[in-house]
Amino acid sequence: MTQSICPICEGEMNFHFSVPCDYRKPSEKKEYKVFWCSACDYGHIWDRPLWNEIKESYQIDNYYTHQTQNEQKNKKLRQNSLEEKLRIYIAWRFDFGEHLKLKEISSYLRQKKVENTPKEGSVEKLSICEIGCGSGKNLKKFASLDFDIFGVEPDEEARKVALSITDSIFSGTAEELPTIITQRKYDCVLMSHSLEHTLDINKTIRNIKSVLCDYGLLIIEIPNSKCLGFQKLKGEWPWSDIPRHLNFFTPQSLKLLLERYNFYVESTNYVGFCRHFFPTWLDIEKEIHSAFASNNIDEWKTPNYKLRSWILLLQTLLSSNETKYDSVRMIAINNQS
Ligand SMILES: [Zn+2]
Repeated sequence: MTQSICPICEGEMNFHFSVPCDYRKPSEKKEYKVFWCSACDYGHIWDRPLWNEIKESYQIDNYYTHQTQNEQKNKKLRQNSLEEKLRIYIAWRFDFGEHLKLKEISSYLRQKKVENTPKEGSVEKLSICEIGCGSGKNLKKFASLDFDIFGVEPDEEARKVALSITDSIFSGTAEELPTIITQRKYDCVLMSHSLEHTLDINKTIRNIKSVLCDYGLLIIEIPNSKCLGFQKLKGEWPWSDIPRHLNFFTPQSLKLLLERYNFYVESTNYVGFCRHFFPTWLDIEKEIHSAFASNNIDEWKTPNYKLRSWILLLQTLLSSNETKYDSVRMIAINNQS
């Protein structure tokens, strides 16, 4: 095995943890190792998988980007016990996660667009390209604010759903952007829960930089590996989703990556607290645990899920945003040069 080198600082990475299999395919016993750069606080799966292995890892039932909204709603229709309701209620009262303020983004970009349009020219519509747009629910929101919307999505099933919103959805990845996408510039590029899936994070950010307007905004939201859920459970944390997630970022490492390409991080926000305490979340924790235990029963002792969930709730209610929320979102301005 070759040495794992950090793609952000190019320093040496060390072994952090491993999982005995893909929990969605427990019968295929295959170990995945995660290496960590302590200087950047960034981790990744090492060795890196091949493209065909990545493709195979998505060949599973009910991957969430494939689901229609009705299927997602049905999943939520589960009767919760009194104890579960109490846990969710407390978490909900302490969930101050901040969702994307679309109108603020729109008015900022509109102002920049006017400033950058020659006096005699007419101001064009704002444009957004989402890389990893899934079934297109984010693009739909931007369309309602009069953006021209464009999407890139590698998954055919998800693309079919997104194509019902706009024709401008194309097959591709962040590393291999479709040619048609690269033939213009966008006011905004969005990657929501897709950077963690990419094989080459440097090529991804370079590609984004090449299609963004000089004043453009890059919005990235990813699972937050600084949060206590990940710190405690590592590969058993539902949003680790190994091997579909190939990269593990903290707010520190995401900022370092963006600054490496001369982006100025304008804001850092956090989202996703309450959902840690839903029974559906605990069901996934149980599913992951039993898949891992089926491969190595001695190493994976069954925890008391209820107690563990209450302890996590009490430890995180009043903790810092970095350790509390499961996702971090950065909005960065594209500085040219
Ligand atoms: Zn590093």
